Amino acid sequence: MAIASLLGLLFPQRCPLCDTQAHSSRAVPICESCWATIRHYTGPACSLCGLPAVSHHTERCQECVSNPPAFVFARCYGIYEGVLKEAIHFLKFNGMRRLAKPLAALLCELPLPAVDAVVPVPLHISQLRKREFNQTALIGKHLAGHLRIPLRTDLLMKTKETAAQINVDRKERLRNLKKAFAASKDASGLRILVIDDVVTTGATARESANALKNAGAKEVFVVALARSLPKY
Ligand SMILES: [Zn+2]
Ligand SMILES: [Zn+2]
Repeated sequence: MAIASLLGLLFPQRCPLCDTQAHSSRAVPICESCWATIRHYTGPACSLCGLPAVSHHTERCQECVSNPPAFVFARCYGIYEGVLKEAIHFLKFNGMRRLAKPLAALLCELPLPAVDAVVPVPLHISQLRKREFNQTALIGKHLAGHLRIPLRTDLLMKTKETAAQINVDRKERLRNLKKAFAASKDASGLRILVIDDVVTTGATARESANALKNAGAKEVFVVALARSLPKY
């Protein structure tokens, strides 16, 4: 008997979402049937930033037309809702670090470009001290391992604290994130895959890509787990 299933018998894991046994699930403690409800968004989206679009007729969103991003493209696995949202929450705020692996496996299903390094979106040092770990770096570590390329946490830094982004409007959010990131010259000449957990306005993706490109990165791509649709 495998150790995992033996441990499951000794210490039965209950799914925090539906309370059934979850010890044989790939996303313990979330059970297999809850995990299976996570959907890959395949509807119409902006070809550059991945913003879900209302119709198949527009290739690029308004923002990308008037202000083209520095990244080649950004893609999200799903919409920030349901079990995907819960799983990101459990990882981020409840410290369920083992969810990083099944979440990274979702990113592996996306069409990933050939790159030289995986770079997680960094937390500001004071956020990192509070949370003790960067959930995006955990996900990035598994993804980099899968792609057999290095995870580089030294290439992109968050230099400005932008903690409370929830109660600010879009304009202010964009203003707060302006110049919030700095990149190392070691990024020069590299093709970089930036990893994020949740994309809201896309400002983090844009600013990260700006910083890396200004430091000489050859190409920047962004993949994230979920797209949260702004309510304003
Ligand atoms: Zn469940
Ligand atoms: Zn766009």
